[in-house]
This record gives sequence, C-alpha cells and structure tokens, in this order.
Amino acid sequence: MSKQFVPQNLPTAIQHYIGGEHVDSIDGETFDVLNPVTNEAYIQAASGKKADIDAAVAAAKEAFDNGPWPQMLPRERSRVLHKIADIIETRGRDLAEMECFDTGLPIKQALGQAHRAAENFRFFADLIVAQHDDAFKVPGRQANYVNRKPIGVAGLITPWNTPFMLESWKLGPALATGNTVVLKPAEFTPLSASLWPEIFEEAGLPAGVFNIVHGYGEEGFAGDSLVKHPDVPLISFTGESRTGQIIFGNSAPYLKGLSMELGGKSPAVVFADADLDAAIDATIFGVFSLNGERCTAGSRILVERSIYDEFVERYSAQASRVKVGLPEDESTEVGALVHPEHFEKVMSYIEIGKSEARLTAGGGRPEEFPEGNFVSPTVFADVSPDARIFQEEIFGPVVAITPFDTDEEALELANNTRYGLAAYIWTNDLKRSHNFAQNVEAGMVWLNSNNVRDLRTPFGGVKASGLGHEGGYRSIDFYTDQQAVHINL
Ligand code: NAD
Repeated sequence: MSKQFVPQNLPTAIQHYIGGEHVDSIDGETFDVLNPVTNEAYIQAASGKKADIDAAVAAAKEAFDNGPWPQMLPRERSRVLHKIADIIETRGRDLAEMECFDTGLPIKQALGQAHRAAENFRFFADLIVAQHDDAFKVPGRQANYVNRKPIGVAGLITPWNTPFMLESWKLGPALATGNTVVLKPAEFTPLSASLWPEIFEEAGLPAGVFNIVHGYGEEGFAGDSLVKHPDVPLISFTGESRTGQIIFGNSAPYLKGLSMELGGKSPAVVFADADLDAAIDATIFGVFSLNGERCTAGSRILVERSIYDEFVERYSAQASRVKVGLPEDESTEVGALVHPEHFEKVMSYIEIGKSEARLTAGGGRPEEFPEGNFVSPTVFADVSPDARIFQEEIFGPVVAITPFDTDEEALELANNTRYGLAAYIWTNDLKRSHNFAQNVEAGMVWLNSNNVRDLRTPFGGVKASGLGHEGGYRSIDFYTDQQAVHINL
C-alpha cells in the first residue's frame, strides 16, 4: 500500500443516525476528525449536543415502548444478531482498513479486532437463546420464578481504542436482551461507528432500536447530555477512571444502572522459575500491541532480582526490534497513536520517565517518522514504586520494569497502584501462581498466558479500574431487570 493510503468507501461526512435517518446536528455544528499519520483533518463529524441526544432518546424510547424489538422472541432477535455477525465478517477487511486509518492501529491487529466484533454478536446471539431463569419451589406451599425484562433505552459511551470492537461489546448484549440504544462513540475515532447503521439495516434491525450521536463528552455536549437524560435508565461506559467518576456523580440524581470499565496499570510479574522466552514474548506483546493503547496492557513488569539484569537486557533488545511503521503496512507492529493530544501526553510521560528511571529502549519519536503520532517502544528499568510512570496510566508503548526479592514484595508492588484491572503472572510453581492470583487486586488474572479472553468469564476491574462486570451472563444481568413472581400453591 502507498503512503497515501485511504480506505475504500470513505464517507464524505459523518452524521448522526436517529430513528433510522442519517442527520446532521440540529445546530449544524461539526468537528474535525484527524488522520493520525499526518494529523490533517480528513473528514467532519456532526457534533451532537443536548437537542440531538433528546431526539435520539425519543426515537429509542418510541422503539422500546411501541416497537417490536423488546417483544420479539429471543430466537428472533438472535437471528438478527447472527446476521449482524455475518455482515461484520464479510466486511471485515473494509472495516479493519477504516479502523486502521482512523485510529492508527496496525492493520493486522485491526483485522483481529474486526473478527472479535463479529464474535461478540455471535456470542450474545447464542447466549440469549440459551438463557434460562431461576425457579424455586417450596413443595405444597409456594412456587417462585423470575421474569427477566429489558430495561429501556441503554446509553452506551465508548473510548477510542479499538472503537468498533468495544462498541460491539456493549451493543451485542444490550440488543440481545431487547433494549434499544443510543451510542455515543469517542470523538477521536468516529469513522468505523458510521458503518453500524448500514450493517443493522441490512440485518433487519427495526428503525429506532439503534441510534448514534457523535460528539464530545463534556458538559453540554453529547456524552454528558446522554448521562443526564431522564429517559435513559442505564449507562454502560468504558473510558478513563476520571471520566467514570464524573459520570457516576451525574447519574446519581437519576439512580441509573451503571457499568464502568475504566483505566488500568496492570502488573506482569515474572518469577525466576518462569519460562523466560515465553514471558518475554508475552510481556512485549502485552504492552506494545494495539500501540500500547490497551486497557489491560501489562505496563508494569515486576521481575525477580536473580533474573532481573538478564530480563532487562533481553527485553530491551526485543523492544528495540518491535517494528514501528505505517498502520496500513502488514508488517507494522506499532502504528501511530490516535491523536496529537494523546501523543503529547505519552511523550510527556517519556520525559518524566527519563528523570525518574533508567531508559533502556526507545525514548521518543523514531527518526524515520518526523511527523504523525509515532512513538518508539520505550522501556524504563529500575522504576521505583513512587515514580509517576509506575503509578499513572500512560496508555502508550511505554513500560516500567521494577525488581523484587520476595513473593511478598512482588505482591505488595503489584497491588501498589489505585488501579486493579488485570494481572499477568509468570512462574512454574503451581501453588505460588494460584496463591498470587488469589491475593492480587485485579479483576482478571492470566497465569503463564497471553491476554486471551473467554467471553463467558467476567470482564471488569476492581479499585479505580471499574464498577460491575460484563461478560457472559453478567452482561445479560446488567441489561435486564429481574422480577420475582411468587405463587401460592
Ligand atoms: P475518556 O474517558 O476520555 O472518554 C471515553 C468516552 O467518554 C468518550 O466517548 C468521551 O467523549 C466520553 N466522555 C468524556 N467525558 C464525558 C462526560 N463528562 N460525560 C459523558 N461522557 C463523557 O477515555 P478515552 O481517552 O477515550 O479512552 C481511554 C481510557 O479508556 C483509558 O483510561 C483506558 O484504560 C480506558 N479503557 C478501559 C477499558 C476497560 O474495559 N476497562 C477498555 C478500553 C479503554
């Protein structure tokens, strides 16, 4: 592909989609969307405000109150969801090219994310048909059963890293359970979300069930207006912990149902008895894949002292070989960060890191990319636990390595941040690994494993990394009300 790569079928503008119609903002306002390789604006997107959210919520409420979707049998909704998955699969390449163009993610990884988006729909299409609810009997006295009902208009607010896949993770269960939705995608990356209306129409989703309003999140804009809308009883949010706190506060007067998938600073703990080759490969992938813009990135590596020097040397050498390149290039492993604002944030942490620790790889912009949001995979060693690069989420291709002497110290270091999303443990000692998993403050733990998801398991964090869990039946629980019915026998 040439340096002027532009995906096929690029729209001429990005509009909202409300009640089955593509529309501009009521006040006509738009915002620029940037190409992360050049930082030039390549398209304008409609900038939603309260009036646009009001229109979208009204359309979703009408579809919920009077439309067929909530009343349909699970099997009927499941068929539509499977069709959605089929269409995503068929259009996987187009979708991945758009995502790679808009986000700067390497094309190979964007293809993987497109596949995951299809899987998310397939999974919830199957799960909703298999769904069964509790029944309890007290012989001769009482029978009790559970009615499960969709709740209403679900507000879905999503971030810019792997946007289409993360949107599918909320859309799949929200729709499978019979709710209608208003999606507010991240303002940095609205392009792939503009594919949803066509996909849903082709699959036969009734008009008004899915609505999308683009725009910013802050007060007075689309995200904030969605959170404060009284006819939206549920908010599923993925994004920064700080934003989660604001949304939590703004939802309180309405007592909304909240699911929050927030930030992370996850530890990868490497003990001396680990398979070092496997641990190095996995911890390289764990922080540098998806440009390091991954909520579950293992961005703090804790290494047992006896193998520390060898680990740092080998890890830094391997990090230096990770290929930074144009996102559309099939051999690229780290592409361009999403936006110049985020690039500046990551670069400022690299400068902070240089004053806090020992730089052993990378350390700034690669020479061959004088423009665009390119950052060399960067490794800091000897990072002390009070360093900012140990404590704060950088969300880029930057890793902090810290030595430890004992299991107790490893655990203390692992738990020594406000976050608690994921943890990765590398050891061949079975007892140690299970005990460590039990004690580490993380919503998800991978033992001697890459970050591989099983959609049936809970996904979510503890501490500042989240509130509630999604995944498997937990997603069904979040998007439904369970009513107990008691019968006197
Ligand atoms: P962000 O919090 O800045 O924005 C996320 C979304 O919230 C955007 O759509 C934004 O417009 C909207 N928003 C902002 N302020 C709002 C407000 N006051 N009210 C309503 N909506 C508002 O996050 P980001 O920078 O887009 O994403 C990166 C963050 O997301 C990182 O912290 C990362 O760890 C986290 N993340 C978490 C997970 C997870 O599953 N735990 C997954 C992916 C990303």
